[in-house]
Amino acid sequence: MKQHILIVGAGFGGVWSALSAARLLDQHGRSDVAISVLAPQAELRIRPRFYEPQVHQMKAPLIDLFNAVGVNFIQGAADEIDVAGKRVRYTDASGQRSSLAYDRLVMAAGSKVLRPDLDGIHEHAFDVDQIESAARLEQHLKSLASLPDSPARNTVVVAGGGFTGIETATELPGRLRAILGADAAVRVIIVDRGAKIGAALGEGISPTIIEACEALGVEWRVNASVASVDADGVTLADGQRIDARTVIWTVGVRASALTAQVPAERDPQGRLHVDRNLKVKGQDHVYAAGDVAYAATDDQGNFAVMSCQHAIVLGRHSGNNVAADLLGVAPTPYSQPKYVTCLDLGAWGAVYTEGWDRQVKLLQQEAKELKTQINTTWIYPPAADRTAALAAADPLIPIA
Ligand SMILES: Cc1cc2nc3c(=O)[nH]c(=O)nc-3n(C[C@H](O)[C@H](O)[C@H](O)COP(=O)(O)OP(=O)(O)OC[C@H]3O[C@@H](n4cnc5c(N)ncnc54)[C@H](O)[C@@H]3O)c2cc1C
Repeated sequence: MKQHILIVGAGFGGVWSALSAARLLDQHGRSDVAISVLAPQAELRIRPRFYEPQVHQMKAPLIDLFNAVGVNFIQGAADEIDVAGKRVRYTDASGQRSSLAYDRLVMAAGSKVLRPDLDGIHEHAFDVDQIESAARLEQHLKSLASLPDSPARNTVVVAGGGFTGIETATELPGRLRAILGADAAVRVIIVDRGAKIGAALGEGISPTIIEACEALGVEWRVNASVASVDADGVTLADGQRIDARTVIWTVGVRASALTAQVPAERDPQGRLHVDRNLKVKGQDHVYAAGDVAYAATDDQGNFAVMSCQHAIVLGRHSGNNVAADLLGVAPTPYSQPKYVTCLDLGAWGAVYTEGWDRQVKLLQQEAKELKTQINTTWIYPPAADRTAALAAADPLIPIA
């Protein structure tokens, strides 16, 4: 009977984990280990593009790629991780429950925005976290055109001024004018708890964020938080009211709730602590990659953040190392000392930074070209060509 590597999740972490495990097995000429990916859809959903229009197109099919490299795809959502019995139970698309035994497990089920318990937030706020919720927002934005012109119709409140909030907000003036007309009096307001504009991203980048937001007319309410949401706007904690037919929630991302079923230490975002080989600390047969992994990127005290930049490289290492573990060959310890960010700033352009202190290296159009290349090419899966796909999964390929 073949040994079995089971990967839960077909996002950036899961796909690259599957490819790199297949690569190592191929290099060692081993056909006695099976690799399966369990996920609700056989597609890589391109989450970094969910603030853009035409969001239903932001996905790439995976079946041909998996077939080319010999990875099995199982459609379903895991609901029970039994590490003692080395088994994962899941529900398939028809609602049927089944289970899969494994020899090694890679947890790669990603993350979700977790809305706090505020009045009206579940009924009235939108988000850009998953393709379905981003599509609902897109439908809603289009429907605004059929409403009479009013300040509330023309106003969007974006709750949270972090990476996702800024990228979403700076894209919105253009998106709203495309829907409501070039002369519409659109307003986009970011409500953020930080003391200063862009505080969440640090001093290095905040002057650029201020400049771009001023140019685009994106307003900030700092030192502020949303207390409640209703169909016509938000009330802030200090009692201030903002009339807005659209409220977009962007803060509070948490690792998949499945991580709570693995007896191991987790960080405040629910991510599993992993060792240098991305094995979950305290577990012998479980690895983690992407947004569910709390992994040191270097020896300086830096840790991976929830990003594709880290998820892809964590995926390449976790897959390689889970296969190495079964084959009894040396693993490739995870190390990713270079950290960059490329923040989209709508029609103003973008900003590209290097280092954990975010030193600005490229601005506006130059940075926008890089962002476009990252978002339309680099983060997409490789073509369904066995040799090329396996070569692309080498854990030692630098990503940035
Ligand atoms: C709007 C937005 C903008 C972003 N911008 C950037 C950016 O500019 N740069 C950047 O680097 N990152 C960005 N990110 C973050 C980036 O998208 C994530 O860090 C990345 O997707 C993490 O990859 P992952 O594989 O861990 O998880 P995901 O991509 O979320 O994939 C998780 C996979 O697990 C599957 N899954 C979930 N639950 C189960 C289950 N119970 N059973 C089986 N499978 C399951 C899902 O279907 C999916 O296939 C952005 C995210 C958002 C939402």
